[in-house]
Amino acid sequence: MAFFDPAEGWDREEIERVQLTRLRNTVQQALKSPFYRKRLGSLGITPEAVTSLSSLRDIPFTTKGDLRGAYPYGLLCVPRDEIVRLHASSGTTGAAVAICHTRDDLNTWADLMARCMYMVGIRRSDVFQNIAGYGLFTGGLGIHAGAERLGCLTVPAGAGNTRRQIKLIQDLGVTALHIIPSYALYLGATLKSVGIDPRELSPRIALIGAEPHTEEARQRIEYLLGVKAYNSYGLSEMNGPGVAFECLAQNGMHIWEDAYIPEILDPKTLEPVPDGEIGELVMTTLTRRGMPLLRYRTSDLTRFLPGPCVCGRRHRRIDRILGRADDMLIIKGCNIYPMQIEQILLSFPEVGQNYRILLETEDGMDQMRVQVEIREEHFVEDVRVLRGLQERIARRLRDEILMTPRVELVQTNSLPKSEGKAVRVHDKRGQ
Ligand code: AMP
Ligand code: ZN
Repeated sequence: MAFFDPAEGWDREEIERVQLTRLRNTVQQALKSPFYRKRLGSLGITPEAVTSLSSLRDIPFTTKGDLRGAYPYGLLCVPRDEIVRLHASSGTTGAAVAICHTRDDLNTWADLMARCMYMVGIRRSDVFQNIAGYGLFTGGLGIHAGAERLGCLTVPAGAGNTRRQIKLIQDLGVTALHIIPSYALYLGATLKSVGIDPRELSPRIALIGAEPHTEEARQRIEYLLGVKAYNSYGLSEMNGPGVAFECLAQNGMHIWEDAYIPEILDPKTLEPVPDGEIGELVMTTLTRRGMPLLRYRTSDLTRFLPGPCVCGRRHRRIDRILGRADDMLIIKGCNIYPMQIEQILLSFPEVGQNYRILLETEDGMDQMRVQVEIREEHFVEDVRVLRGLQERIARRLRDEILMTPRVELVQTNSLPKSEGKAVRVHDKRGQ
């Protein structure tokens, strides 16, 4: 099998040997920041104290709150002059979080990203369109750098302006693209409405990620765009894209364990959960110099997929992200993740490409309203047929989430859409 980087082919022993050396170096580097000097110093954590990978458990967690407190430069481990790029998390709530990179950090990141793209069959002969916002969001420049590192003809299309995106795809003979799943669904619906057959377009590969999405959404994207779609996971705190990526098997994402140590912990006890069980992903950087992070609590919920992957790589796989710990909705005593709702909605062929979840208070009680776009050809149907559909959706939702939301069927393109990460849940309780 062709690897972009020999590290992809390492066995477990080699991976863990390198991890231990790199963890020691990372602790040494981290101690150069006032933040970690204070936090680790008082616990006697030094590079020498890291005697095995299980020493990781002695290291305290780093949280988003820590990053906010240290904003913008408090976690730097190199002189500020060595920092050449700053990114920020797209989080819509709370204060900003800044991540700073040295030139070497950017190089390593581009290599990781190129490795992901090569793994799914992208080569220098490809024309790659990056349909993602260029700015503080890492999906723009991060993916861009990987594509250029591979030697692709790279088109920094940015987000939005759907007609122009389609024209670029057609004019340039684009063969691979990167796009956020909710926007991919919208682009796919637009192709259909302007009468373009995706099978006549040149793209064969799409990288989709940056937001939670279900297997149902992936299959729709593959159908609507006529591509193979591969899940791409990352977060600004760990660079951005290039952290974990699906291989050709499309069965879980390999976390690059030569660059990160992943742990999956019970969010309450903070003890490791057994492989196959869901918990919070906690990550340690192993190659970053400008701003290394130790045991960063991502809030993302996933599980390690047990057993080796058919592709031969021994870097462990995580399942698609179920959501963030703070995404969980509690309504009428039921714990609900938005992805459970998406999974049901998109399994109905009549359902279009957009939906939203509204939480409201009515007479002092929490209510959930699910607005869902219905495909044009179905919306014109008899009222009785639509009512029947509405009831079937409500019933399936009730079976899944154990409460009955109010379901509203709306026309295609009537719900607000976003060019970046979709905002699916609107909590109007207490307003
Ligand atoms: P940001 O750093 O602002 O780009 O946001 C990173 C967050 O986006 C992660 O912590 C995840 O919650 C989410 N995310 C990124 N990639 C994926 C993916 N492939 N599937 C699900 N969620 C994702
Ligand atoms: Zn694999």
